[in-house]
Amino acid sequence: MSLNDQWMQRDLAVLWHPCTQMKDHETLPVIPIKRGDGVWLEDFDGKRYLDAVSSWWVNAFGHANPRINQRIKDQLDQLEHVILAGFGHQPVIELSERLVEITPPGLNRVFYADNGSSCIEVALKMSYHFWRNSGKAEKKRFITLSNSYHGETVAAMSVGDVALFTDTYKPLLMDTIKVPSPDCYLRPEGVSWAEHSRTMFAHMEQALAEYHHEVAAVIVEPLLQGACGMRMYDPIYLTLLRQACDRYGVHLIADEIAVGFGRTGTMFACEQAGITPDFMCLSKALTGGYLPLAACLTTDTVYQAFYDEYDTLRGFLHSHSYTGNPLACAAALATLDIFRDDDVINANKKLAARMASSTAHLKDHPHISEVRQMGMAIAMEMVQDKASKTAFPWQERRGLAVYQHALSRGALLRPLGNVVYFLPPYVISEEQIDFLAEVATEGIDKATSQKVSVSVDADLYPDFTHPG
Ligand SMILES: *Cc1c(COP(=O)(O)O)cnc(C)c1O
Repeated sequence: MSLNDQWMQRDLAVLWHPCTQMKDHETLPVIPIKRGDGVWLEDFDGKRYLDAVSSWWVNAFGHANPRINQRIKDQLDQLEHVILAGFGHQPVIELSERLVEITPPGLNRVFYADNGSSCIEVALKMSYHFWRNSGKAEKKRFITLSNSYHGETVAAMSVGDVALFTDTYKPLLMDTIKVPSPDCYLRPEGVSWAEHSRTMFAHMEQALAEYHHEVAAVIVEPLLQGACGMRMYDPIYLTLLRQACDRYGVHLIADEIAVGFGRTGTMFACEQAGITPDFMCLSKALTGGYLPLAACLTTDTVYQAFYDEYDTLRGFLHSHSYTGNPLACAAALATLDIFRDDDVINANKKLAARMASSTAHLKDHPHISEVRQMGMAIAMEMVQDKASKTAFPWQERRGLAVYQHALSRGALLRPLGNVVYFLPPYVISEEQIDFLAEVATEGIDKATSQKVSVSVDADLYPDFTHPG
């Protein structure tokens, strides 16, 4: 038995993998990874896979990056962890200073959590608590966009919109107000992204007008709705949203967990609209993809509404055990150093252009309805019928066929339903981008020409994009 097979057997005997129907693994291998090196992952039999999805969008500068490794090793000999209530430490102080410096002006306070979902919970709780502290406890609802994703914990799921998951857990979820997304995939022919985004804003304006006295915050994924299929919209929507939130006295929460740290072409997506949200949630690439850490940044105004005598109960009494972990903060500092020292945002422009040119031919593919890109994220949507943009039924799992083909060719491409995408580490080379485009094209050809017979109940989750 190969080493891979041995590890796979041990794995399947004890693990329950995330976002996975475990029965799939009766036929689909689990790939045990022995080591990482730059964009490459290597299994126990020595086969290498190019990590085109940055290991679920977290990895910024490759696996086993020497500069990040060294910083963590140095930190390890100093301090591995300390309680952050009543205590501080060098990495967390320096990181907070740096985050305040590089995020949009006005975000002057940093509250830490240890993963993206709990960071969303922090923002939601803080927003509600702010209004309560301001004598407006009735502001307790949240406005969200269709297609949105904000994590897997119960409140984070409540403000998200992944049909299958929300339906399953509906009895557990908070009551939110859902507004149609400005998703430009759905724009009418001949209409620009900006026009479509502006038109779609009317729904948001209406929801704010109707519900603002009971609404604490609007939460959005700025510019790029990732988990629901890499759908994109124009910055004008964020500009209008900021203005409207101010007019109606509602907070704006920018979930930059996926888009932050250069993914959309700017360090933060909000920069493209020139706005400062009331809360900005960061995680994923924050530590270069090394360690779990999340930061919720907010304004002096929000901070001051909590600042009072203890017995007023206005303080934010929220914590997670690993809040502000020093090793994670050290990884984050090394990551920010690389952004600065290597002028990464500028350097990425060339890579983004290569991602566009290497996949340009797919625009004419009979089963690709759109190739869309924002900075270092590019997505190709597979459809049954190109003219009408009719999706393949999700039960056919066309994306899985792409995934399997890519694995056989040495690439980790994990489509979101019918959406094939590249979200690579920024250390990828132009030749490696060409390789990914080649593998994706083959995979798409294969997946879209296959005859698949499944019984499809069309009424069940009609627009559902399965992230698995
Ligand atoms: C991944 C993600 C989250 C959740 O982060 P976790 O660390 O996986 O809990 C929240 N929002 C967005 C936009 C994400 O992409």
